Amino acid sequence: MKIIIHGGFFSESSQSMETKIAKQNALRHIISLSYDYLMTHSALETVAFAVEQLENDILFNAGIGSQIQSDGKIRMSASIMDGVSIKFSGVINIENVKNPIRVAEKLFNTEDRVLGGEGATKFAYANNFDFFNPEIPQRRKEYEAKLGSRSLGTVGCVALDSNGNIAAATSTGGKGFEVPGRISDSATAAGNYANQFCGVSCTGIGEDIVSAAVATKIVTRVTDGFSIEKSFEKTFAELKAIDGFAGAIAIDNKGTIFHLDSHPSMVYASFDGTTVDVFQ
Ligand code: ASP
Repeated sequence: MKIIIHGGFFSESSQSMETKIAKQNALRHIISLSYDYLMTHSALETVAFAVEQLENDILFNAGIGSQIQSDGKIRMSASIMDGVSIKFSGVINIENVKNPIRVAEKLFNTEDRVLGGEGATKFAYANNFDFFNPEIPQRRKEYEAKLGSRSLGTVGCVALDSNGNIAAATSTGGKGFEVPGRISDSATAAGNYANQFCGVSCTGIGEDIVSAAVATKIVTRVTDGFSIEKSFEKTFAELKAIDGFAGAIAIDNKGTIFHLDSHPSMVYASFDGTTVDVFQ
């Protein structure tokens, strides 16, 4: 069993040392809770559980504490993918729910598995999700001061369970100040992808991640026999060629845990059953 989570990027220039320590501690806590959960649950159940914990933490830009868009509203996106059935489900630009990842998970066994905007929000309420405003005062202050920040932190998780199955989940509040209707990579196959060989969750600039099809390419390369290191190296070289900005976490079916970023400050933590590795 293996697990890795991320919480987006950390910016030394715009965030304090206290915030960095708080994020390290939060990730340490969530990785430990999620690994315990993985001991008795599938990879698919665990990635939803881990992302829910991350969405509930105001330190990260997903669920509670999401960024505010240019019209003053919060719209969130999340997706989940099972490497066994190769099924992907997600919500794009959902409003006023506490845990978008749980709505994405609920869609997993339906026919229309990716819902956007009003349709996603209506689906949530029709399926007993409560109205919940994810805004916190700090985000409103930043919005009013026009302080959009890419370092706030989309969240994600990849897990490999005791049956050798892999799953990936990703959730975001977006990039902040975006035009309403803008679509993040987080609920696309470019930002979140898994099969029996590998699972990947991304963070960074959604437009770059989609252009470089980051998660899909890494997973495809591993499937075709490249090592996880080589698959990341080649995909990130292609991202660099378009001046793209991203970070990604992954686990392959041999149990290799891997992460890479085009800017060296992705916030992540992993646990291989013996050692916890937390970003420094
Ligand atoms: N990828 C997210 C987006 O573009 C933002 C992030 O990862 O920070 O919506």
